[in-house]
Amino acid sequence: MRQEGVQYSQAVGGAERAWLELQSRDAMTTDKKTNEIREVIILGSGCAGLTAAIYSARANLKPLVLEGHEPGGQLSITTLVENFPGWPEGVQGPSLIENMRQQAVRFGAEIRMGSVSASDLSKQPLELTVDGETLRTRSLIIASGASARWLGLESEQALIGHGVSSCATCDGFFFSGKEIAVIGGGDSAMEEALFLTRFATKVTLINRSERFRASKIMMERTQKHPQIQILSSTTVEEVLGVAEKDVCGLKLKNQKTGEVFTLPLSGVFLGIGHVPNTKMFVGQMDLDADGYIQTQGNVFTTKSGTVLPGVFACGDVQDRRYRQAITAAGTGCMAALEVEKFLEAQGH
Ligand code: NAP
Repeated sequence: MRQEGVQYSQAVGGAERAWLELQSRDAMTTDKKTNEIREVIILGSGCAGLTAAIYSARANLKPLVLEGHEPGGQLSITTLVENFPGWPEGVQGPSLIENMRQQAVRFGAEIRMGSVSASDLSKQPLELTVDGETLRTRSLIIASGASARWLGLESEQALIGHGVSSCATCDGFFFSGKEIAVIGGGDSAMEEALFLTRFATKVTLINRSERFRASKIMMERTQKHPQIQILSSTTVEEVLGVAEKDVCGLKLKNQKTGEVFTLPLSGVFLGIGHVPNTKMFVGQMDLDADGYIQTQGNVFTTKSGTVLPGVFACGDVQDRRYRQAITAAGTGCMAALEVEKFLEAQGH
């Protein structure tokens, strides 16, 4: 998730990480089936999941929140959040998420670690395989988020939060008067590059091929902008500044000529897409071409266009457009309210 006004969104990225990873240990553990049937299970303990937990706990539904390898989601690894309403001086991301967590627990939410490896959402109660155990629940809120895609370079990973960022709206402010680069050739990269010209004196847009995925209009705006320089057919070999713990440049390679050269700069923004954490729901519900959950009426999930009873999605896992902490919290609230209505209609 992109947090608003956060210094260095250290969203440790990569499609393959986080709590939706298929865990090999599941295969080795004998499935245990508990007799207990939960009213609601919430997948994810970021802003959306914890907001859903606060609401459903206050409704006395005793939600079980499953959190994976990134407890608290992206808020927990950011620093200052400046535009979450209600915090005129800003609030530290970890502190904001800790407050949400305590609020949920105070009303009776149970939070525990767990990776979901499989699910059966075609029957009631719904079934989830969590670290070898089958959990049963009448309703499910999926708030598993989306992870920024990273290049995967060691130097890039080492400098996340020290000049490497995946969120222009969060961190652009901190590069006022500096020279930076944006990596990518799609609409996200164009949007980030254009946005960052508000702060940076020069933005170099670096695309790995000659072909740009961006829409014509975004491409034209970017090409015309006097502060943006475009380097195509260029790959990032290394982010420089690991020893100093501060980005000071990029080692680049021109894929056509083979030339390797250095571009001095202060910041690098990744704009190469996001990956929603929905692996284990493939085949269980409607996902779009990029794996985001397709919702109707904000939070209702569907299968072949028909609403899946009792299964709701909120936050970044179903939102490729806004990706803000406040919008995630908003849909988390909606999902919890729909759960209440659903359970009530079922007579629970
Ligand atoms: P995208 O269109 O899939 O583009 C991703 C870009 O990142 C491509 O240029 C791709 O290069 C590059 N890339 C991917 N992996 C890379 C890697 N490992 N190393 C270097 N480059 C890599 O993703 P997006 O820009 O996030 O857009 C996603 C969707 O959202 C699109 O449908 C887009 O139109 C939409 N969107 C719209 C707007 C808008 O209208 N304002 C803004 C943002 C997003 P290759 O082409 O070589 O694969």
